[in-house]
Amino acid sequence: MTAYEPVIGLEIHVQLSTRTKMFCGCKLSFNDPPNIHTCPTCLGLPGALPVVNSRAIHFGIMIGLALGCDIAERSLFHRKNYFYPDLPKGYQISQYDVPLCRGGRLGDVRIHRVHLEEDAAKLNHLGASGRIHGSDRSWVDFNRGGTPLVEIVTEPDLRSPEQAREWPALLRTTLRQLGVSDVNMEEGSLRVDANVSVRPVGSTELGTKTELKNMNSFRFLERGVRAEISRQIALLEQGKPVMQETLHYDPATDTLTALRSKEEAHDYRYFPEPDLVPILATEEMLAAARADMPAELPAERAARYEGELGLNADTARLFAFRTELGDYFERALAAAGSDGEQRQVDPVELSNWIPQLIERIGSDSDPAGSNVAPESLATLATMVKAKEVSRDAAREVLTRLVEEGGDPRAIVEREGLGALTAEDDGLGELVDRAIAADPAAAEQVRSGNMKAIGPLVGYVMRETKGRADGGEITRLIRERLAG
Ligand code: ADP
Ligand code: MG
Ligand code: ZN
Repeated sequence: MTAYEPVIGLEIHVQLSTRTKMFCGCKLSFNDPPNIHTCPTCLGLPGALPVVNSRAIHFGIMIGLALGCDIAERSLFHRKNYFYPDLPKGYQISQYDVPLCRGGRLGDVRIHRVHLEEDAAKLNHLGASGRIHGSDRSWVDFNRGGTPLVEIVTEPDLRSPEQAREWPALLRTTLRQLGVSDVNMEEGSLRVDANVSVRPVGSTELGTKTELKNMNSFRFLERGVRAEISRQIALLEQGKPVMQETLHYDPATDTLTALRSKEEAHDYRYFPEPDLVPILATEEMLAAARADMPAELPAERAARYEGELGLNADTARLFAFRTELGDYFERALAAAGSDGEQRQVDPVELSNWIPQLIERIGSDSDPAGSNVAPESLATLATMVKAKEVSRDAAREVLTRLVEEGGDPRAIVEREGLGALTAEDDGLGELVDRAIAADPAAAEQVRSGNMKAIGPLVGYVMRETKGRADGGEITRLIRERLAG
């Protein structure tokens, strides 16, 4: 049976949080009464002229820089023509063959292009069951019409449903940190379309793709992509072709239904927008965009955690994508000891305790709001590293810290959780007893089979109720069985 590899490319629409619309002075709004933020321009009335929003260009350049794109010195607006009730002009002003930004990369996904355009109006479809104004017609709310958008198009570089969930989360954190958008999927300020194909593993050609429209949460995006990959593989295994079409994913039933196929695809008859001049991205505009960028973006933060602090890639990403975790981690890293001296906390050891912490306070919670002060977590990590407390005992200390806060040293003292040592606590004697209790295992270790050491270590762990350090026990056993 052929093994298949998924190939996924994303097209992401982001509403920019400017004060006014893309080509007129109407205010941006969300959830206001319908059709109160309109004017001749965004209603497409004859004779009204667009004027480009310079703040939207500024945000577009910031996004391009954050994604490592080339910013075009000169880019163009085009008219994308189609008829639909949400588009009063009969065309959308967008960018076509000369976009604002090209190339670039975020994490392990290359960016194809980033361009500016305007959003369409919002259609409220209410069926017979959900009537408004006593009818079952559709209603158009032009408040949204003309909202500034950037469209970010990736190369087909994603390879799994999980990545189709994780990568947009990195993008969202990045955009949020730039302050250019609310990036809220439920409210529609971040909208993701996924292009999906599969191909035999090892093949370098792209398979026929389908497009999943407008997934409204990262979870559904992952599930929709997974369902579509399975559907395509099943087709190919039956010897049937994948049709190029646009699909809608229904999370309730985990099924995909066709919206439109490529044969009915629009010919948009793009042509240059005659009412707007080209965007000239000057050195001053680039400098202004750079000046508004945060000092460190999430992808850079992840790279620093991995490269400079030695964190594993998953933890580095977790802390970088969830800024509250990264911030907490850094506060703990910087924490001074109770004696006022700068304490050296091992970053890797510390990093392992933050997932442990959020596991206890709720995986979506911000540890800054918990009972555990960053200093306390740093102290705990340091005690583990120094083998003053065993890993098992430290987990118990953490549970106490989450419940009642306070100082880990005090808890260790009060609960008698300090690590047992060979000299003070008779750990050596226990090791002797373990060896005596299992001569067969001891003999194996003596003859060099280190896997046999497990039961001996386990014996001491049990006897000490986890308070002895595993590494220390192992060291003592090997010492006794050496030679
Ligand atoms: P279209 O002309 O149908 O819009 P594009 O070439 O512009 O297609 O690509 C649109 C998006 O689809 C991009 O994100 C791209 O990476 C992705 N894409 C293109 N071809 C494939 C494919 N065969 N499989 C998966 N994604 C693809
Ligand atoms: Mg496209
Ligand atoms: Zn307007």
